[in-house]
Amino acid sequence: MPHDSAIDPRVSEVIDWFAREARDLPWRREDCSAWGVLVSEVMLQQTPVARVEPVWRRWLDRWPTPAALAASSQADAVRAWDRLGYPRRAKRLWECAHTLVERHGGEVPRDPDALLALPGVGDYTANAILAFAFGERAVVLDTNVRRVIGRAWRAQPLPTAHMTRAEREQAAALVPASARLSVEWNAGSMELGALVCTARAPRCGECPLRDECAWVAAGSPGLDEAPRRTQAWHGTDRQVRGRMMALLRAADAPVVLDSHPDLGDVEAEQRERCLESLVRDGLIQVQESAPATYTL
Ligand code: SF4
Repeated sequence: MPHDSAIDPRVSEVIDWFAREARDLPWRREDCSAWGVLVSEVMLQQTPVARVEPVWRRWLDRWPTPAALAASSQADAVRAWDRLGYPRRAKRLWECAHTLVERHGGEVPRDPDALLALPGVGDYTANAILAFAFGERAVVLDTNVRRVIGRAWRAQPLPTAHMTRAEREQAAALVPASARLSVEWNAGSMELGALVCTARAPRCGECPLRDECAWVAAGSPGLDEAPRRTQAWHGTDRQVRGRMMALLRAADAPVVLDSHPDLGDVEAEQRERCLESLVRDGLIQVQESAPATYTL
């Protein structure tokens, strides 16, 4: 489909590809509320689509509005977060629902500063909500988009740990002036990075940019040598915290975690550290002190 001549031809290719290949995700449907989009963006911050979708559906069925979530307890929100990981996001979403009710009449505001002031909403999420909930022109730059632009425009195998100003300016310059096309570019470049231009095994043969991609033209250099940024998981505090949260989610009464048999392989010092950090983060509550019992 011909687009505005001011648009980079690679941007047009991605928009056309997205029209053909976009996954049908519930938060992309026209009848999805701004609240549904906000919830999806918070869930997708650190968790892939396949794991988010069922939890998102249950969440929206139960709490279709911010007011509905605000009327529930934080423990219910943390329990419903299930195994999405980084459960502080559930707490922040619950706090966000309260802020929306108290300051915005239970609606998601269509204003960048008001969005940025919400718990759990940073620069990326605020822009994604403006684009995907309200159809506004915004620069939505997640790691998928950074990878696509880095490869197709700059022949860079993987994004750097920190975004430079020049990178941000280039990304902003690529966003079409038309609000509708800008949303399609934002969603399309994200989808291309998630499905085709993946971090370690890009499927260039299936990519709409294969004939114009700077990285392919340069001979696809540097990917094998690039350091992997995967985090060790087994035995980390994050894993132990996740196991503790799972025990509390499954329980309907306070649980003794210090000496729980399912945590027998965890050193006492690590157990204590993880319990302290969960209490400090406000994710679990101490009920009794001798022996210490905990609830969500
Ligand atoms: S051609 Fe390959 S490297 Fe270039 S954007 Fe497409 S998938 Fe990514």
